[in-house]
Amino acid sequence: MIREGYELDVYNINANSKLNKRKLLIVVILLFILLLLILVIINSVRIIKANKIYKQYAEQLESLNYQKEQELAKKEAERQAKIPKLTDEGKKNIEGIYNSNTKRAFLTFDDGPSSVTNTILDTLKQQNVKATFFVLGSRVEKKPDVVKRMYDEGHYIANHGYSHVYENIYASPQSVLDEYNRCNEAVKNAIGVPEYNSHLFRFPGGLVGGKYADIKNQANELLKQNNIMHIDWNALNGDAETNNLSIEFELARLQETTQNKNSIVILMHDAPAKKVTAEALSQIIEYLRNQGYEFKNFYEIVK
Ligand SMILES: [Zn+2]
Repeated sequence: MIREGYELDVYNINANSKLNKRKLLIVVILLFILLLLILVIINSVRIIKANKIYKQYAEQLESLNYQKEQELAKKEAERQAKIPKLTDEGKKNIEGIYNSNTKRAFLTFDDGPSSVTNTILDTLKQQNVKATFFVLGSRVEKKPDVVKRMYDEGHYIANHGYSHVYENIYASPQSVLDEYNRCNEAVKNAIGVPEYNSHLFRFPGGLVGGKYADIKNQANELLKQNNIMHIDWNALNGDAETNNLSIEFELARLQETTQNKNSIVILMHDAPAKKVTAEALSQIIEYLRNQGYEFKNFYEIVK
């Protein structure tokens, strides 16, 4: 009995041991699966988090790119707005420039840039007035930085030819167009805008009369065919009339020539010898303001 019992015990022990091993194995497998599950969960959480961060970055990047694109588009629109485009409306505006229901004044400066131009630009800036400069190509080449400043500060850069030497520019109608183009090239280089064309020319000495009247009239037709308009003036400060200039003289001439006129295009000069014009400019602007004139430049006309 004892022996039998012993054998049964041994058998039981063996059976128990096997059972325990199996249980252990199951526990180990379960633990392993649990560990695996935990690892999978941790990893999934990590992936979800990483995806979220990636998504945030992508959104930020997209928004930055959008902002950059918007800024570039705005800059390009501003750049385009400063490149004159002459349409039929603009041509009509130029032809009817001396007629206006409201009082308006176009300050124009010929023959620059020169050593006095920066002083004129300083005054225009202080007074918050935009003007129009009829520049000479030969002088633009010498002072491109001044022309760039004019452009950057919103003034209209128009064309007065290249040489201002009458026998050269008025040799033929074609030479007028050639001087226009040569001046325009100089302006393009100075301001760094390859598409620039002011479409606006002022004949040295004016269009009307003089020794070269016929050539000038023919040249005017040729310019029109090339989409270039001309403009003279109907008021002035007299700074080309005498070498003995004074502020009082310029103001008196301005007063005389602007009488009873609603829309005035005022001829002035920023040639090297016209220091007095630069000195008189504040008072010229003040006088015109007191007379009720609003200041315009040719950006509002050439369109
Ligand atoms: Zn001139």
